Amino acid sequence: MSSTTLDATALKADFPLLASHDGLVYLDSAATSQKPQAVIDAEVGFLTSANAAVHRGAHTLAAEATVLFEEARETVAGFVRAAPEQLVWTSGATAGLNLVAYSLGNASLGRGAPASARFALRPGDELVVTETEHHANLIPWQELAARTGAVLRHIPVRDDGTLDLDGAAEIIGARTRVVAFPHVSNVLGIVNPVAALVALARDAGALTVLDACQSAPHVPLDLPALDVDLAVFSGHKMLGPYAIGGLYGRGDVLEALPPFLTGGSMITTVTLDEAEYLPPPQRFEAGTQPVSQAIGLAAAVRYLDGIGMDAVHAHETALEQRMRAGLREIPGIRLLGDADGAERVALCAFEVDGVHAHDAGQFLDARGIAVRVGHHCAQPLHRRFGMTASVRASAALYNSASDVDAFLDAVSGIRSFFG
Ligand code: PLP
Repeated sequence: MSSTTLDATALKADFPLLASHDGLVYLDSAATSQKPQAVIDAEVGFLTSANAAVHRGAHTLAAEATVLFEEARETVAGFVRAAPEQLVWTSGATAGLNLVAYSLGNASLGRGAPASARFALRPGDELVVTETEHHANLIPWQELAARTGAVLRHIPVRDDGTLDLDGAAEIIGARTRVVAFPHVSNVLGIVNPVAALVALARDAGALTVLDACQSAPHVPLDLPALDVDLAVFSGHKMLGPYAIGGLYGRGDVLEALPPFLTGGSMITTVTLDEAEYLPPPQRFEAGTQPVSQAIGLAAAVRYLDGIGMDAVHAHETALEQRMRAGLREIPGIRLLGDADGAERVALCAFEVDGVHAHDAGQFLDARGIAVRVGHHCAQPLHRRFGMTASVRASAALYNSASDVDAFLDAVSGIRSFFG
């Protein structure tokens, strides 16, 4: 039953780690989220009462496990408004992005279905990312460029953290074959203008790849409505288990993409010389799949849907505004990408004048506040802002206003402590 408000303090009781760590202020959900008991129960329940190899065995237990596994696909696909056959299980967002980049590389080698020729890259073709990428949505494209002779270009980020759309319009053009970008940067927290970027890519005839890791846990997500060709998200950041994620693809795109990993479970007929592949999503699911994790992720999205993503978003927006307004008032704090009026998730990265991010992180940890420090797998972005590391506080639905106040109170003491 969804509503428009939620009681974060009451929700904490659903999360065994939060309930058992009195006084912990957990503000590191962008790295990984805590897990509700419902997710733990779903995974343990499968392992203790339904475990069997899916899609293979002829026995009853295997058939039941297969039904549960495919029901999980339907549930998780539904969470992003996709059809089940549009959802490929991966071990996480990094795996999903590598899958896409390697599949495109295979198309370039002439491997796979004839339809995959449309994806073949030639020297001089261009792949476009943004300056804000997590390394997971950067290095696979660097590698693909190196393998194919394609050129990697980037859309610049402005000082205020917004993407330079004029720059994007200059960069995306006739040579562009792929435009890959984050829905929300894991350092800036700003929701990027997906429609504008998709329009530029469509005009150029380029594929769009959306990294939805930092949006899926926080905003209602309708991937088909966003009109991207491909998108990835990560289970462990959205209350789900580790080693599970999703790759969404438009039907015609997945249909034409050649596989990345090959082997068991993704074939129809195999001879010693060649193999025929199953249609998507199984074509991209070689080998034994993360079955109990998929069932755990389905429980996670049911939990989120039970609260209602509108309520989650509204709650987290209030936390974000409280956190940002508070940080702006503390002397010596420099927020990364502090654009006024930007749509955001509840995530603030900042540096403290004269104090190394790691020292600031330790200071906060000693006061029970868990934040992330470092480059957050976004070295080029930190370099762009003239720094090597920052402190990042990121909230989720189980954080309350008093968590944010405790955090702000502690941050306001950092400089005098190290002064
Ligand atoms: N993309 C973004 C924006 C992220 O924040 C992360 C994780 O930090 C990833 C990709 C990688 O996700 P995964 O841990 O599922 O591989």
